[in-house]
Amino acid sequence: MKHFQFRALTATWLRVAAMAGLLSLTAFSAVAAAAVKDNTKLRIICFGAHPDDCELQASGVAALWTAKGHKVKFVSVTNGDIGHWREAGGPLALRRKAEVEAAARILGIETEVLDIHDGELLPTVENRRTLTRLIREWKADIVMGPRPNDYHPDHRYTGVLVQDAAYMVTVPFFCPDVPALKDNPVFLYYPDSFQKPNPFQPDIAVSIDSVIEKKLDALGVIVSQFDEGGANGTADLFPADPEKQKQRHKQVRDGFARRNQSVADRFRVRLEEWYGKERAGKVKYAEAFEICEYGRRPDKAEMARLFPFFGD
Ligand SMILES: [Zn+2]
Repeated sequence: MKHFQFRALTATWLRVAAMAGLLSLTAFSAVAAAAVKDNTKLRIICFGAHPDDCELQASGVAALWTAKGHKVKFVSVTNGDIGHWREAGGPLALRRKAEVEAAARILGIETEVLDIHDGELLPTVENRRTLTRLIREWKADIVMGPRPNDYHPDHRYTGVLVQDAAYMVTVPFFCPDVPALKDNPVFLYYPDSFQKPNPFQPDIAVSIDSVIEKKLDALGVIVSQFDEGGANGTADLFPADPEKQKQRHKQVRDGFARRNQSVADRFRVRLEEWYGKERAGKVKYAEAFEICEYGRRPDKAEMARLFPFFGD
């Protein structure tokens, strides 16, 4: 409804501007067409267990989508309130929320942190309802989440909850308070290195070379987890000395650059499928995703429409 009203207002303004001679008829048509096209922008929602997981896995594609006017939202399913070696509880949850909000401002996306205790997430019906509502409210075309085989129980259950929502988002009488989606979104998994019972098998790999600095900047504001080491950190990782802090910050940033480089190297064959051999050979940093079997099953043409980056 809001979108419709906005479009109607934009069209009215354009008509007034055209009458006043501010826009030529051609320019009017072009801008009007762009205004209508806004309605076709993609909507992507990414789930992570903790306030840093989505940022690690999908900041690059998020920045690519927002650069083209598409809408991205990151959701942390827990509040991260035990994710530090020195501090815990409400103050840590607030600190981590502020960190991902700062990252979201850099990336130009929306972000939300659910108030569920870190380390205590369970795949309950109530949580299934919560994720179902979030996906429906976002009117998602794409939903991302971790695979359900992972070392951390919160990551595992985030994966299960996203899978559990994959069909329910289309069922009208499950959570009838939020209208069901007519079209089932495409559900995608983030990469991991776990081999059992089955390894991550990417269906798509995306060059994030053009936005790597933005991704590293976004990760750079999540100080509690990376500079300070999160739950397994120690006091000497990030000492009070500003010079040592600067060194540590650079070490973390370089580490993340290498990590995204290794994704490009690991899935070079997939990059070749999407960019052609020559362009793929030059890609330095990448993110990769696997299609979940439980949502809509897109063909290659639809994936190219959902990831409109390969012609850039
Ligand atoms: Zn996590």
